[in-house]
Amino acid sequence: MINIYNPVFISLSSFSIIDLIIISIFFLSIGSFCSSIIFRLAPNSPFPLSKIRSCCPSCSKKIDAINLIPLFGFMIQSGKCKFCNSNISKFYPFTEIFFLLIGILLTTNYGIGLSTIVYTVIIFCFYILFFLDYKYLYLPVYINLLIVLLGITFNAQYQLFIDETFLILGIRPISFAFYGLFFGYSSLWLINLIFKVIKKKDGIGGGDFILFGGIGSIHGPIALPAILFIGSFLGCLYFIFSKKAVNGELPFGSFLILSSLIYFVLNLMNFSFIN
Ligand SMILES: [Zn+2]
Repeated sequence: MINIYNPVFISLSSFSIIDLIIISIFFLSIGSFCSSIIFRLAPNSPFPLSKIRSCCPSCSKKIDAINLIPLFGFMIQSGKCKFCNSNISKFYPFTEIFFLLIGILLTTNYGIGLSTIVYTVIIFCFYILFFLDYKYLYLPVYINLLIVLLGITFNAQYQLFIDETFLILGIRPISFAFYGLFFGYSSLWLINLIFKVIKKKDGIGGGDFILFGGIGSIHGPIALPAILFIGSFLGCLYFIFSKKAVNGELPFGSFLILSSLIYFVLNLMNFSFIN
């Protein structure tokens, strides 16, 4: 397994054409799957998660297999349903291209293997949570718990997200993940408790506690204050500049996800600078 802070850097030209085609199809399909999950988990979705075949959300007609092919399906239909001519959301091709780029980034940094799969699943979960929280203030508990499970398992077993400083400090990998979970969950729970005593209502959703615990199980306890600070700062900016925030509710989970990404990039840059 390749630690996230120690990428191996493989040039794109060292992959064969067949490899590149398989990687592209794989990650475009992941993107397609991801956007359909987001649409189905949305609180106002007309289609349940259990429904196997995709349908047009406007006319409910089944979409042909050829039109379900990522990117290609959207292009041959010129972005419109062939039955009712309603526009197909651009979120589908956007998500497919996003995962294609993630796939290129991961395979050229971590190779084709279990590390890349684990990082993809975590990005997949964060992507779903980011958009569901941003649009509907909804963080499904089972996706939150999957992040916790991945964080604990892969840190305890392979130290996948643990940078060398922690190992030098002598912190055991399993403690790193569990302290992260504990401090992540309890810090937001405590902040909410104080808010509740003063304002007599909840200030932070319960989904945010578990999400921050999950982020803690991945990045460890020491990262949490910085992630919370950046997330709160982004939330303040959103509150000041967004018209959506006027009715008072903030997609705090989305900002925590964004700030954990910023934290990771800063840490990675710091690492490559030191090494
Ligand atoms: Zn239609």
